[in-house]
This record gives sequence, structure tokens and C-alpha cells, in this order.
Amino acid sequence: MPTVNEEPLRAPAILKDLTALLSIASMGGSLAEQDAQEFMATLMRDIGLEVHTWHMDLATITAGAQFPGQEVKREGGLGVLGIWRGTAGSPALLINGHTDVVPPGDLNAWSGDPFVPRETTVGGEHVIMARGSCDMKGGLIAALAAVKHLKANGFTPKGDLLFAPVIGEEDGGIGTYSLITEGLPRFYNLDEHEILGAIIPEPTSLAAISANGGALTFRLLVHGAAVHASRRTEGVSAIEKFYPIYQALIDFETERNINVDSRMQRWPIAYPISIGTVHSGDWASTVPDLLVAEGRFGVALGEDTLAARQRFEECILTACKRDPWLVNHPVEVQWWGGQFAYGQTDSQEKIIKALATAHVQVAGTSIEEYGAPYGSDLRLLTGLAGIPTVQYGPGDAGVAHAPDEYVLVSELESTARVIAELIRASIG
Ligand SMILES: [Zn+2]
Repeated sequence: MPTVNEEPLRAPAILKDLTALLSIASMGGSLAEQDAQEFMATLMRDIGLEVHTWHMDLATITAGAQFPGQEVKREGGLGVLGIWRGTAGSPALLINGHTDVVPPGDLNAWSGDPFVPRETTVGGEHVIMARGSCDMKGGLIAALAAVKHLKANGFTPKGDLLFAPVIGEEDGGIGTYSLITEGLPRFYNLDEHEILGAIIPEPTSLAAISANGGALTFRLLVHGAAVHASRRTEGVSAIEKFYPIYQALIDFETERNINVDSRMQRWPIAYPISIGTVHSGDWASTVPDLLVAEGRFGVALGEDTLAARQRFEECILTACKRDPWLVNHPVEVQWWGGQFAYGQTDSQEKIIKALATAHVQVAGTSIEEYGAPYGSDLRLLTGLAGIPTVQYGPGDAGVAHAPDEYVLVSELESTARVIAELIRASIG
């Protein structure tokens, strides 16, 4: 029996590539975002993948009807797609993960430079700490380590393996949108190939996340009537009129979270309605005639976006009808900013079953499967491309976007092993 080369699956090899990637400050919209993509392309070429790159046609894709939006300015975007051709063609397995990171925030809250990765311990466990270690460069490099390991051991897949690092996940998903609308049509036409599924090694602490709730950004305009504060009873305060609206939203949230999908029951509130900003008044002794509130409205799994908006608008309208002023001066609802649909993959899909089996084999425990209340590129892959997708990777999402973000080295190794096993079992 030939000796198995396990080196690519072990910490030293994984940490070497990960440290290099973490040193690139690939914040969304920065030029370094493209450097991180170039770096991934180089790693992928080095292990022998067929690598295609493209410069995104920003003018065209941002005008697309289903473009997910972006919250930062971009001069350009680099798409990267690696292909390992199988001997029997389809079905293919896609590995997708983002190389962009969020800004570090308050530097004083960090124990070191966010873009100088360092190995240390947290709770007695060996970790690597840097911005993006958990979300999600750690998972991406662990997944590539799996591919490297299989390449080094003479494995030949029957189905094709696609490896797609993307930019812009944190601010809407321009990278995965470009992959679906530009990269795949040019280099791997989905009309000619069948895709078994996709795995995104986002931080899930080695659980399978098969669904994401949606999120709609809204703005409320509450009208009052201005008057001098000394005669306030002759005016109508927009702040006071916001109160019944706010109460109605709290009741609406409660009602929407009574019977949630079983995959979402672990969360105290699966589909939150949260007010993020409130602005009202322009003078201390004037009764304010306008209040503007903005927030995020959680969309349930299986709930149509338009239907969700209608329910929300009905809730506001009903509250207005109960108030003698608001009935004639109804609150305006505007939808702006991020408008993200839910995304989900059926638990019976082959990719979920194959991942569960690979996880049991490597970790020796059964996999936990649930849905997350936040959005990710999963919704683009499932909704736009129709690819059954699951998130599975190292790191606790609770430390993502936080100072001193880190990932457990043991989970990096486990992820590499599980994904290697998943590739072997599903397209081998
Ligand atoms: Zn992420």
C-alpha cells in the first residue's frame, strides 16, 4: 500500500498558506481585495488546478435586475475559478468562499496588528488570530488543503471539482454574483454540466448550516405637526406617534416567531425586526413634525420577499388605523439598501447527506444541522444558480467581525479532512 501523504492536512502546511493570506488586508472595496484573489489563484495553480481569472464588468453586473447590491465603492473586481476536471465529467462539486474581510474596527481593542497573524492560545487551545482568520480565510485555506492532499496522493475525481474564491461577500455578494453571471457561463457553462452541490467553508464550528434567513432594510417616515414647545398640545409630536408603531412591530415580531422552521428553533428570535437608527426633531423647543426610523426586517425561510413586505406594510397600516392622528397621516414605509431573500437547501439533498457522512467518519460524532438568522452567499447559489448549498467550516461565527478574531487550529485540520473525505465520497 502506498504511504499516504498527510502533510497538506496538518497544521504547519495549512498555517503557512493561511498566514500569507491573512497578511493581505483584503477589506471590501480595497485594492488588496484583488491581491487576495491573485494569491488564491497562485496557490491553486501551484497545486495543479486549471485556473481562470476575469476582471468583472462592473457597469454591466451592477445594473443587473438581480444584482445583490454593494455597500462599498469598487474600482474593479477579480473573479477566480479553479477547475479539476474529472474523468467522467459531471456531476460537479463546488467549493466557494470569500476572501474579503470587514475592517478591523477600533485598533485599541486588538491585542496586536489585525493584519499581522499570530499563533497563540485561547482557552488553552492553539489558535491563529487575525482579521479574517475565522470569517473566512481559515475555512477557505482548509478547503484548499483538502484539494492539495488529494492531488498529492494521486486521487483522480470522476466528477469535476470547482474551487471559487470570491470578493464582496460581506457587502452583498458581488463576487458570487459575478461567478454565477460571468465566470461560470464563460468557463463552466451550467447548462452543460450538472452540479451536485456547493460547500461554503464559512465559520460554523463544524456544523452544517443549510439555510439562511433573509433581511430587508426599511425606512419609516412618521409625520407629526410642529408647534412651539410651550404650546405642545396644539401640535403633534412625531416621536409620540412612533411609539404605537414601535409597539406594533414588537407584537408583529413575536407573532412571526411563534412557529418557526425546526432548523431555526435554536435562536431566541429567528426572524428579528430591529430598529437601527431613529432621527427626529431639529430644535429643542419645537415639537418635532418628522421622525425617520431605519431598521432590518428578518424574512422567514420559505417566505416570499414581496409577501413579507406586504405583511410588514399591513402591520404598519393597521397600527395607523387605531390612532386618531395616524389614520389621516399614515406612516410611510420605504424599502432601500440590502434586500436579501432567504436561502435554503433541503436536508435530504445529496450534498447534505454526503457532508454528514464525511463528518461522522472524520470527527466520530454526528453532525448538527441548522439554519442561521443571517445571510450569506448561500442565498445566491441556491436562489440564483439553483445549486444545493451548505455552509460547513472552522471557527465560531460569534468571534467573526470582532477584535482578536481567531480560529482553532484543530478545527482547520478537521475541516481539511472532512472536505477531503467529502470530495472523495461525492465525486470520486
Ligand atoms: Zn463570512
